[in-house]
Amino acid sequence: MPLNRRDFLKLGLGACLLPGLGLSLGRAATMTSEEMYVFGTLVDVGVEHGDQTLARSAIAAVARDFQWQNQAWHAWKPGGLCELNAAFAAGRSYEVEPSLLPLLAEATELARLSGGLFNPAIGGLVGLWGFHNDEMPSGALPRTERIAALAASAPSMDDLIVEGNRVSSRNPAVQLDLGGYAKGVALDRALDTLAAQGLNNAIVNLGGNLAVSGDKAGSPWHIGVRHPQGQGVLAALAVSGRTAVITSGSYERYREFGGQRYPHIIDPRTGQPAQHVASVTVIHPDAALADVAATALVVAGPEAWVDVARGMGLSQVMLVDGAGRVQMTPEMAARTSFVTRPAAIATVAV
Ligand code: AMP
Ligand code: MG
Repeated sequence: MPLNRRDFLKLGLGACLLPGLGLSLGRAATMTSEEMYVFGTLVDVGVEHGDQTLARSAIAAVARDFQWQNQAWHAWKPGGLCELNAAFAAGRSYEVEPSLLPLLAEATELARLSGGLFNPAIGGLVGLWGFHNDEMPSGALPRTERIAALAASAPSMDDLIVEGNRVSSRNPAVQLDLGGYAKGVALDRALDTLAAQGLNNAIVNLGGNLAVSGDKAGSPWHIGVRHPQGQGVLAALAVSGRTAVITSGSYERYREFGGQRYPHIIDPRTGQPAQHVASVTVIHPDAALADVAATALVVAGPEAWVDVARGMGLSQVMLVDGAGRVQMTPEMAARTSFVTRPAAIATVAV
């Protein structure tokens, strides 16, 4: 698929690998990397290994997995999840592709862990706001009563009934949208696929959400976190070993009306877009958990995030509020160098 300028800009969202930072200690860098367009964004897989043929064939396997996952897990394009959502709305059960079952089980656990702020059962609300679309809608906002009624019907992962491979929902308002979680799962699986081939120094960038393993020729990977309110890099993070760096933000996807922005992350309690946080970056060895956590902490907002982070067992979080002020945990602070000076920096223990 041809890539346009917007696609390249998309890769700059969230975070990116910073070139040329850090000195190589000992080993010479032999990076093999491939770019692909999948999950509606640019994806970059890089492997540090002397055998470039092996690296290329492993990257091709990762690319095939990504294409398959995109089709199977997409919330609003034809595929298994779409069929399942149609069955929920009609009060029917549906036999899902077996590989979806562990995802649903894990997403249910993670939704509970987040106190319901991450809620992949609110696909109906996400769709009502018009975010199940490649292009953001420009017209009038959805009616307040419709949003309130859908939020009051409280769709939850706990409404699901799984019998063998058949899944149904007690609540017809449940519509699954794994958009806040599936990137993390895909990143974890990509690193697993590479590791199974003995490729343990790698970086996968899925539209600004990254997972790394090992190091870059003896030095940490240097990840740039994009400034959520301007152009360029806010901070550089040094990471090594198996780690994910996931950013959620209100600046990535939003619609505008009457001079106001309505971002794509929805507070399940009200059905309204979460507007008080510019971005949250979470570092965690488990990319799926980090993905869920970043989404949940955007919903939690600039005060409640601390309790939610504690409940989710997070120790590395950076939050930028609407005024550009940064709050971060001590462990995050220890690996962060600011490239652009934020309005304020506070270190907050969780
Ligand atoms: P992320 O970029 O990981 O924060 O995911 C954002 C996407 O997750 C949105 O585009 C929606 O598809 C979906 N989403 C929005 N709000 C929520 C929420 N509160 N819980 C779970 N998924 C959500
Ligand atoms: Mg997420």
